[in-house]
Amino acid sequence: MEKVIGIDLGTFNSCVAVLENQTPVVIANRGGYKVTPSMVAITEAGKRLVGHIAKRQAVTNAENTVYAAKRLIGRKFDSAQVKNSMATCPYRIVDGPHDDCRIQLRDKVYSIPEISAMVLQEMKVISEDYLGHEIQKAVVTVPAYFNDGQRQATKDAGAIAGLDVIRIINEPTAAALAYGFGKQIDRTVAVYDLGGGTFDISILEISSEGVFKVISTAGDTFLGGEDFDQRIIDWLVQGFKEEHSTDLRQDRMALQRLKDAAEKAKCELSGVTETEVNLPFIISSTRNEALHLQRLLTRAQLEELTDDLVARTVQICEMTLEEAGLDKDEIEDVIMVGGMTRMPRVQAAVSEFFEREPCKGVHPDEVVGLGAAIQGSALVDDSIDMVLLDVTPHTLGIMVVGEYFEELIPQNSTVPTSRSKEFTTVKDNQTAVKIIVFQGESRRAKENELLGEFILTGLRRAPAGEVTVDVTFEINADGIVSVFAKDLDTGKEQSITVTASSGLTEDELDQMVEEAREFAVARRTDEGMEEAKQQAETLIAEIEKLFPEVEQVVAGSDFGRDAITKARSVVDATRELMERGDAAGLKEQIDALSRTHRMFKGVVGKAG
Ligand code: AMP
Repeated sequence: MEKVIGIDLGTFNSCVAVLENQTPVVIANRGGYKVTPSMVAITEAGKRLVGHIAKRQAVTNAENTVYAAKRLIGRKFDSAQVKNSMATCPYRIVDGPHDDCRIQLRDKVYSIPEISAMVLQEMKVISEDYLGHEIQKAVVTVPAYFNDGQRQATKDAGAIAGLDVIRIINEPTAAALAYGFGKQIDRTVAVYDLGGGTFDISILEISSEGVFKVISTAGDTFLGGEDFDQRIIDWLVQGFKEEHSTDLRQDRMALQRLKDAAEKAKCELSGVTETEVNLPFIISSTRNEALHLQRLLTRAQLEELTDDLVARTVQICEMTLEEAGLDKDEIEDVIMVGGMTRMPRVQAAVSEFFEREPCKGVHPDEVVGLGAAIQGSALVDDSIDMVLLDVTPHTLGIMVVGEYFEELIPQNSTVPTSRSKEFTTVKDNQTAVKIIVFQGESRRAKENELLGEFILTGLRRAPAGEVTVDVTFEINADGIVSVFAKDLDTGKEQSITVTASSGLTEDELDQMVEEAREFAVARRTDEGMEEAKQQAETLIAEIEKLFPEVEQVVAGSDFGRDAITKARSVVDATRELMERGDAAGLKEQIDALSRTHRMFKGVVGKAG
């Protein structure tokens, strides 16, 4: 059975898992970590770094190190969220060709899906290293509250990374799958998911027959751990300004150090009640004196600084319950997901609201990846009895006269789903109709997210109202929207892909896939070469060391002379392969080198 990996593509960390013997397991990266930072950097030498290695050099290469790209995916350059990121991120966010935002790293501009693809490619390699074979298919998770543009952009990222993303699933739903898989329980659960960048809440019914049905979902794609960090940063910057009349925001390096220190302090305060933020030589004063930042932060202060953020999550929980038509006491279990749920105040707020302790035994960093792996296997393996019924988080509709929003598919409708609507011409001899599609909850179309617009052409010339076009709006299981139109007059059909104006064109996508593929091949060869080189060098050094002894032992014998000549030529050929950078040849040569090494050890051993 083909293996399908599950990837939790997080704002700050990503995690990859696979189902083995009906049990989902998280795959550790080469460093032994089960989560990999979703960070990408380009070094001065033009080298691409992903994961821990990118994180480690972030302070010294802040402008060319990207974190939290997920906050930008599928967003328009002029959106408030992007402006907000531009004010706080040390890397350069620039205007893209389709109203989208892009990131400039050194002299190249990257689309956000390309950046996410680098992380996905890394997760693919981690799984391939572990499984020992190539992986093609994946299930990737997204926040439940992602709209069509954000989902499509995530799917594009998968394609660029060389992955066939067979399903996009919602993070809280994935968590519920991991929680309920194989348990045969009937239960109504709430999944509270507060990660680095996003907040989601979903209410699900789990049945003992393996049906996972989402009843309602809500969230905020711009509310997460980073906002908590930002509050600490603001507090530190303000305090520093009062004390030294110096604005730390002027200095990108200082800002990056502050960011790291703020996050560290926040995490520490989940375990202790006070911590010291200590950043020596943070900046120089106008008189060129080195200034140091040193401040004590207590858990109570942190809670005060972030009180409204926690309250907002609770407010969204309340709305979701209402939407689901349920009372708090009907929720039988609360599953906590995301690193931020380690914060005691968050745990207390959730317990207070649901009037029960959250369920134990679910790992907040791994549960989403595990759920994605379960869903991935269920999609290719008929023997797994599991049905997932998710919902669309936003209402889908079109703009009508007066710029009002006409609802077609309401939020929280189970997906896949479709709805048809008939349009008639309003003018005589009208040969085209323009349809503008939005997603959101406002009555005013333009206050919602524009998904795209299309024009149906080639209509028969006729008096107004005589030509009717039937348009079907479809949301698939990934939550992605497509539109099909049929001219009822002629029976002619047109299929239209609603490409978000912030998305990539097909040509751009093809080019990015090609570039990433070349990079993946180059990287693999590179990595293979590095490993093989190291092995070869170690073996050569050992053989060289043994030469004098072996020569002594075999001196005078023809067999011995032949063996030495052969060994020399093996070593020389290996050096040549290393010089040529022939990774494949070198890997084969290592066998010959190992044999020579074994033979030499044997000769020396016998002699001893
Ligand atoms: P996630 O997106 O689920 O990987 O969550 C990452 C977020 O969780 C980041 O904002 C982290 O700073 C935060 N986080 C991780 N561990 C802790 C902790 N012990 N206490 C508070 N926040 C944490």
